[in-house]
Amino acid sequence: MVRRLDIVVVGAGVAGLACAAALGRAGHSVTVVEQAPALTEVGAGLQLSPNAVRALDWIGAGEAVRALAARPEAVELRLHRSASVVYRMALGRAAETRWGAPYLHLHRADLLCALEGAARAQGAQIRLGLRAERAGDRRGGASLYTDAGTLDADLVIGADGVRSALRGDLANPGKPLFSGHVAWRGLVPAERLPAGLLSPRTTVWMGPRRHLVTYPLREGRLMNIVAVEEQESWTAEGWSAPGDPDALRASFAGWHPEVETLFAALTETYRWGLFGHRPLRRWSRGRVAILGDAAHPTLPFLAQGAGMALEDAVVLARALTAYEPTQALEAWERARKPRATRLQQAAARNGRRFHARVAPEQWIKAAALGAFARLAPETAQGLNDWVYRYDPTTAPV
Ligand SMILES: Cc1cc2nc3c(=O)[nH]c(=O)nc-3n(C[C@H](O)[C@H](O)[C@H](O)COP(=O)(O)OP(=O)(O)OC[C@H]3O[C@@H](n4cnc5c(N)ncnc54)[C@H](O)[C@@H]3O)c2cc1C
Repeated sequence: MVRRLDIVVVGAGVAGLACAAALGRAGHSVTVVEQAPALTEVGAGLQLSPNAVRALDWIGAGEAVRALAARPEAVELRLHRSASVVYRMALGRAAETRWGAPYLHLHRADLLCALEGAARAQGAQIRLGLRAERAGDRRGGASLYTDAGTLDADLVIGADGVRSALRGDLANPGKPLFSGHVAWRGLVPAERLPAGLLSPRTTVWMGPRRHLVTYPLREGRLMNIVAVEEQESWTAEGWSAPGDPDALRASFAGWHPEVETLFAALTETYRWGLFGHRPLRRWSRGRVAILGDAAHPTLPFLAQGAGMALEDAVVLARALTAYEPTQALEAWERARKPRATRLQQAAARNGRRFHARVAPEQWIKAAALGAFARLAPETAQGLNDWVYRYDPTTAPV
């Protein structure tokens, strides 16, 4: 029988709340420590692919998420000036049939709310306004040192994001590296847009050194925008900063009129410098581990960062059912690292695919991809099987 463990999780983002729900489901007692005084999320959307939805189902948040999410019919790649569709992959029912679970679009706040509900339903305690400073392994347990005292537990799990305080306790990661990309995020209320722009699909507009991803959220009441551009350095204070919609419009000037209409309706944006790390040598030591962005920050160009955090949580909970705590963390790390590394690399490659240096190069690449998808749609879809078919509820651990 599994011993009930006392587990402290640092961070109440996607990774931390998913971890709390998954570990609770596996019979453990969980306390989540979050530095923020309240649980909030940026006003932005998220794509969740079938692998992520399977994880949500296992931890008990799938139903709540399905009730709040939109199901895109397709993903389309378009050229930035002509709007020509160079590649189209069916999602909707086709995704569910091929990959065994739906592909969803969701407001981030709705995902956090569903995860918080699942975590609390499993008995997790969430302590807000408590900042973790470091974690230490001790004989038969671990301690978390916070700005308001020490918490002792059987395990400490750091889900504290790309700026993780706990990562330094496990590895010598060096400073996070600026990826050379800046992302603008914004939401446009549907009533400010012509109906034709709100079709239920993901559109990726590809242009030189830039791309734009758009999709509707909350039953088409909002349009989500993620605009990415290359930039030499990130000099803003912190990792995100208010963005000037006029600067965004200037940066994408000359793009198709649909893009201009979208940007004209935008009144508020935020900018994120996208940072990563060299792959870490280890994610765990003794009874302390890190997961989610703390362990494997991933560029958003494959829409898998949150999905990987959800997968991590489920596999960790299963490992703790199969092994003693220290062996469980080692087995979990062995099971997860190859997939996380492959996804990190694939996301970086996608960034290079979406951004051409010059227009003809972009056109040639896009035409080749589009021809492939038209001639062999099954094969083109199959390229995503390794990402979307992964099942964290049965994957070997
Ligand atoms: C522009 C953009 C678009 C994206 N789109 C997608 C997408 O479509 N699909 C997808 O799957 N992923 C996407 N991602 C990636 C996804 O957002 C992240 O991978 C995911 O949110 C990481 O969650 P996390 O919980 O690991 O980290 P975070 O969300 O960073 O959460 C960390 C939490 O820990 C807390 N914390 C930090 N330090 C401490 C401390 N010392 N003490 C206590 N608490 C602490 C923080 O306050 C925070 O609440 C995108 C990312 C970006 C930037």
